[in-house]
Amino acid sequence: MPGFTCATCGNYHDELPLCFGAPAPDYYYSIPPEEREARTEKSADWCVIDDEHFFIRGRIEIPIIGYPERLVWNVWTSLSEHNFTRSQELWNDPLRVAEEPYFGWLQTVIPGYDNTLNIKTWVHTQPIGIAPQVEVFEEAHPLLLDQQNGMTLAHVQQIAERLLHEASSTSTQQ
Ligand SMILES: [Zn+2]
Repeated sequence: MPGFTCATCGNYHDELPLCFGAPAPDYYYSIPPEEREARTEKSADWCVIDDEHFFIRGRIEIPIIGYPERLVWNVWTSLSEHNFTRSQELWNDPLRVAEEPYFGWLQTVIPGYDNTLNIKTWVHTQPIGIAPQVEVFEEAHPLLLDQQNGMTLAHVQQIAERLLHEASSTSTQQ
């Protein structure tokens, strides 16, 4: 893993972080902090708001051109109540890998794109213990193109330079 000289702080960082994400769906942050306990239910993997908005955490993986690892965004998508309930029922069932993908609206702001909220995704269930793979399919969206074509290492470094020094809901997750 190469270190890099950071354009933001001018220092050398030993590692290029490749995993970023948000600890909750974007909608969660629109709930006033003092109301969150009453209105939301949440684990590291799922979130329900007002008993009518259902979210699951997943991973968008983006190939890095000419590089063996991938850039990972930990993201949230909103599922239908039906699919959310199904994902909960099958949480510990090995047969869950046979699930058809669930439709999800992306619920995480991904830095570097004009808008990633409520773009269309497929949520692919993985074996027990592994977060779903999220596949963007919003037509012609730059995030879709990056997921299909990959990003350059230089571009990933630019993202890291920005996010390592930014206080926001999107944070480095190792
Ligand atoms: Zn820096």
